[in-house]
Parts: sequence; structure tokens; C-alpha cells
Amino acid sequence: MRVHHLNCGSHCPLGGALFDGASRGPLAHIPTHCLLVETDRTLVLVDAGYGLRDVRHPHPRLPRLWRTLLNIRLRERDTAIRQVQALGHDPHDVRHIVLTHLDFDHAGGVEDFPHARIHVLAAEHDAAARRRGFVARQRYRPRQWDEASDWRLYEPGGEPWFGFGAVRGLDGLPPEILMLPLSGHTLGHAGVAVAFDGGWLLHAGDAYLHHRQMTGARPSLPPGLAAYQRIMDSDHAARTRNLGRLRALAREGPPDLRIVCSHDAAELAAAQAQTQSQVQS
Ligand SMILES: [Zn+2]
Repeated sequence: MRVHHLNCGSHCPLGGALFDGASRGPLAHIPTHCLLVETDRTLVLVDAGYGLRDVRHPHPRLPRLWRTLLNIRLRERDTAIRQVQALGHDPHDVRHIVLTHLDFDHAGGVEDFPHARIHVLAAEHDAAARRRGFVARQRYRPRQWDEASDWRLYEPGGEPWFGFGAVRGLDGLPPEILMLPLSGHTLGHAGVAVAFDGGWLLHAGDAYLHHRQMTGARPSLPPGLAAYQRIMDSDHAARTRNLGRLRALAREGPPDLRIVCSHDAAELAAAQAQTQSQVQS
């Protein structure tokens, strides 16, 4: 099992450090962190980022207001399919996509992999199909995934994973990949845990947005990002509760556990550097 950390779309909102806590210039740099997992038999994507059709026809696939606010940089080379090819793989070998949720910045690449089975929590699929309210209509863009036909929808439950409810036995996937319901950002939001190299990698999706929410004595994040997070909360109380559980997991969980989220540049750079050093050694 090998894991690649990909940035499948950049957001560069005006506000710089007010959004990412690090940029010196007027624009922030916020990646969309996806995983490409090489198993014995297949390739698995964890989240799909923006896809080729988002790059070629952003309107009406992406919400205009969000596109402007986030200053989304759409580049073909950032799409998962182009990065899969750049790594020397055939995109047809991507047989599974496990989605943390169906927001437009996570599901845009789904249709670039027509042979892939899509795994998502049933509650998320339901929320995305209903699109109740203004924010839901902006964040969920059915055009991005309505051609996908091979869905697997899961209910939470099953044997827990370090105190978290887990969905195990994802259809067609090895037991080393499981989903953890982490609702809040969206109603059916999930983390995806991958066991490899004797440890665990947990992709927490948008359960948090900045590493300082996980590492500080108290969760904190840049004010622009905090405002964005609040707007996007489907269930604020659940998101806050799950953040507390993730912080406890980081403190008290297994030593060989790395937790990453979708939109933190420092986490992505550290994970990519580690993968690079593993390849070289
Ligand atoms: Zn996101």
C-alpha cells in the first residue's frame, strides 16, 4: 500500500494570512488535499478535487459567488486524472473513489473516472440530493456527479475505530480503508482512515480547516477561514463536538497516526515531503 498526497485545486482568496495564517501577500493559498492510494489490486482516490470539466466549463458546474470569493484557480494539471497519469498510472485503474463529502471542491473529479465506484455516507448523498437552503444549493452541484452510476451508500455503525464509529468493509475495498462518520461541516461528512506502513493516516476532510485547530492548546484558525467555516457548517454543534474528538485522538490515539484535513497547506507540504523521503530511502 502506498499513498500519494495530491493537491487537486487551489483557492487563493483575497485576504492572505486572514485566510491561511501564513501568506505574506494579498492572496491566501489554500490547497485541496486528496489522496491516491495504491493497493495490491487497484487505485483508490480519497476525494476527487476539481475535475477536467470544472476546468473547461466552470459555469454552471461551480457556484459563481463561491468561485469569486475563493478565487479558485482551475488548472488542468491539478486535476486528479492528470496527476494519476503523471505518476505513470492508467486512470482506468482508479476503481474506487471514497468521498469525505460531496461539496464542489471534493467531488468535481468524480466523472473523470467513469469506471470508479463512489463510496459516500448515505446521509451525505441524501443531503446533496435534497439541496435544502441557499448554502446547500451552492455547495452541492449535481452536474459534477449525476453521470456516476456505481454508488455505494453507507450507514454509520460497525465496530468502532479508536472510539469513533466506523464503516468497515467498503464494497470492493481492502479492510485497510474505512470511513468514519464526522458530521457537522455537512450532514453526512466522513473521515477516511487508511492503514499502511504500520500506522494510520486519517484524512479528516473538512472536519477542520487549519492545523491550528488541532495543535494549539485551544482550537484557533485565521478569522477569514473561521467565518467561512461557520457559513459552511451544516450542524455547528456536531462539527465542534467532532473537532474535540479529533483533538483527543491526536493527543491520545496511536503514536503512528497522521491526521490531515483537506485545506491546510502546511499539512500537505509535510505529508508530501515525507512521501518523497520514503521514495528516496
Ligand atoms: Zn472543502
